[in-house]
Amino acid sequence: MHPAEAHLLSDLETLDREVTHCRACPRLVAWREEAARVKRRAYQDWDYWARPVPGFGPPDASLLLVGLAPAAHGANRTGRIFTGDPSGDVLYRTLHGLGLANRPESVVHGDGLELYGVRITDPVRCAPPDNKPSTEERDTCRPWIARELDFLRPTVRTVVALGGFAWQALLPILAGAGWQVPRPRPRFGHGAVADLPAADGGPPLKLIGCYHVSPRNTYTGRLTVPMLRELLAEAARSAGLEPVE
Ligand code: SF4
Repeated sequence: MHPAEAHLLSDLETLDREVTHCRACPRLVAWREEAARVKRRAYQDWDYWARPVPGFGPPDASLLLVGLAPAAHGANRTGRIFTGDPSGDVLYRTLHGLGLANRPESVVHGDGLELYGVRITDPVRCAPPDNKPSTEERDTCRPWIARELDFLRPTVRTVVALGGFAWQALLPILAGAGWQVPRPRPRFGHGAVADLPAADGGPPLKLIGCYHVSPRNTYTGRLTVPMLRELLAEAARSAGLEPVE
């Protein structure tokens, strides 16, 4: 199925399955498959996933975390978002510490990991070279996450954008999904908050900016674990969840 047909899908489970067959971006298809052929030395024994990576977490989540795209030797290898790379190590450990995940680590698909009230997704579902999708690739992939937002809309109350790319990608998607995005558009920052009323009088949405959990940020101290924990705890509370203090 081409992403332009994602609006035809009737439920999130089907979307999560359909997206894994997408080949709409030639450069990203070539890159994700090349990474699987060449492999990293530490993963020579792995049979890489090498396909688009769906969102992960319950279909009735009230808190949505949005990243950038799979890592070539992380989710592109394991098939589950933020699984098998340093970014995921920080993210899942923090979620577990807050009582929002049943395990502190996410190393392989099928390990029994569960999220409680939280879903994680990406605006681009295939690993891009240098972690930099093009604008065209971002826009081509948009219908997948846009449809995901349609399905989550009844329950989602807070969205955390992990990084400026996610923030920028989300604004038009959230507007299309039925929330009012103010003009001028809110700017990304760590801790930036935008309250988006629903266009139809339904529940509003809170959009929160957070530095991405990439090694570039966590190894340099730009984003520390206490910073991440504090922001995610606040996001969880605003979504009606009860994080462990
Ligand atoms: Fe399809 Fe998105 Fe992957 Fe492009 S990035 S091939 S649209 S899943």
